[in-house]
Amino acid sequence: MIRLAIVSPCYNEQEVVVQSARRLSRLIDSLAADGLVTADSFVCFVNDGSTDRTWPLIAGLHTDNPARFKGLDLAHNVGHQNALMAGMMQVRDMADAVVTIDADLQDDLRAIPQMIGHLGRGCDVVYGIKVQRDADPLLKRLTARAFYKLQRRMGVDCISDHADFRLLSRRALQMLSAYTERNLYLRGIIPTMGLPSATVSDVIAPRNKGRSKYTPARMLALALDGITSFTIKPIYGIIYVGCIFVMVSIAIGFYVFHAIACGTAVPGWASLILSLWLIGGIVLISIGMVGIYIGKIYTEVKRRPLWNVKDFLD
Ligand code: UDP
Ligand code: MG
Repeated sequence: MIRLAIVSPCYNEQEVVVQSARRLSRLIDSLAADGLVTADSFVCFVNDGSTDRTWPLIAGLHTDNPARFKGLDLAHNVGHQNALMAGMMQVRDMADAVVTIDADLQDDLRAIPQMIGHLGRGCDVVYGIKVQRDADPLLKRLTARAFYKLQRRMGVDCISDHADFRLLSRRALQMLSAYTERNLYLRGIIPTMGLPSATVSDVIAPRNKGRSKYTPARMLALALDGITSFTIKPIYGIIYVGCIFVMVSIAIGFYVFHAIACGTAVPGWASLILSLWLIGGIVLISIGMVGIYIGKIYTEVKRRPLWNVKDFLD
């Protein structure tokens, strides 16, 4: 049997946090009754700088049942990804595995026993995959799909239709703790760790109360992090565009020779248009070159672990 920690980030979730706590607690009771987790498994709410009554409510839950409910109060709003990391690192030595789930419990609790099953079969990471997300707004579904495609094309190793509903073993948490980068994008980091993983289906429910904290601006910021934190390919894109410009200028050069030969050349046109495309191309290639060095500096300063050890037989 394992001791399970459920980490749930909350940002202004006063409408849902108590109800979520009850449902998660009932879940732990039933998992314990089935012999899957120990009865001292617990829920850790991370208060991500809420400005409403979320924290007093979490504190109240803890007072009523300190063994079941823990609370981590962050001094200010640091965003979903950082709040998740904070929670996971806080409980890392207290549990054998951690499940992260949003406080609004849109994710499917029935997936959790399956996740624990996969853990028992040797998986360190189990991803919840949104199989049916009719409850999400259409725009969100469409943009999400386009984003996963773009990410894949950019060479980022990501799991489609997986948000941050997942189980991590103690070993996975230990590895994750070595990633100390600031622009945290957990959905990209965890697959790159390369641990044995599995997926379970997650049927998305509508948010029962409260509003989505992911505004379009926040979603865009997350999407940009998801690409720029994992690949410097967009920089190479600049160089490609620059090369196209130079090629266009060469083509125009041929056209100019042809026009001169035929006597149809317009005075002044060739020198202007040629220099426009040629200089444009050279500038773009140069920016791209500088960008590559900046990209390398960025990769260096992240100080990601060079390798992750899965096992050592001594
Ligand atoms: N959240 C957070 N900090 C933030 C924004 C969101 O901890 O700055 C939490 C939020 O309380 C919720 C989870 O992240 O538990 C996911 O947010 P939400 O449900 O609003 O997003 P959606 O499901 O609409 O994508
Ligand atoms: Mg939600």
